[in-house]
Amino acid sequence: MDDKEVIASAIAELSTLFPMQCPMCSRTYHNFREWAQTAKPLEGTISYDAESGEFDEAEDLIGAAVLSNCPCGTTLSLDTKALKEETHRAILRWLKLKSEATGLHPRDILDNLRAQVREMLTANAQD
Ligand SMILES: [Zn+2]
Repeated sequence: MDDKEVIASAIAELSTLFPMQCPMCSRTYHNFREWAQTAKPLEGTISYDAESGEFDEAEDLIGAAVLSNCPCGTTLSLDTKALKEETHRAILRWLKLKSEATGLHPRDILDNLRAQVREMLTANAQD
């Protein structure tokens, strides 16, 4: 997968998490775009599979911590189990290659990927 495909797959599959509600203030995020516009991303997106050094080689994928703050201050997490295993493994493979090619830490690559996903979601007016 290239960067564009990774972004498109992430958007398509993580969109299935919505609507989602904040357990503290009950704010409802109707869709991924509303989420991207409202919740504030926390830096340091961690892929546990990348951190372990196994990337897509892990037998059972652990997933990633993708955290954002609701305006009420509660930290909410996007559940990467929403990703199909095949997609998740393809993203991890992409992450590994990208990290090897650039020397960047997977966390920085994921934060950057996330910024691009958010940009894509908020730039696109219709859902
Ligand atoms: Zn809230």
